[in-house]
Amino acid sequence: MDQTTVEKILAKLSDGLLPVQEPEKTWGGYGSGNPCAACDEPILPHLVEHEVDLESTTLLFHAACDAMWRPTAAGSPRRHGAP
Ligand SMILES: [Zn+2]
Repeated sequence: MDQTTVEKILAKLSDGLLPVQEPEKTWGGYGSGNPCAACDEPILPHLVEHEVDLESTTLLFHAACDAMWRPTAAGSPRRHGAP
């Protein structure tokens, strides 16, 4: 497992494991040990967690992973017509 976080995000976007749509709302807080949707590492209590509300689901990210997921999702071919 030597994938970088961006590589993980790209793989999950193309596998449909991460959404490509724009989130409706984002909440910030401290982690509660749940795994990050992007890098799969636990979001520990001293780290900032972003809770991202989408149409059908809610995802948890490290603040840094959220910041990488957004532009990567925006550039994904899935957002531009592909099912
Ligand atoms: Zn993460």
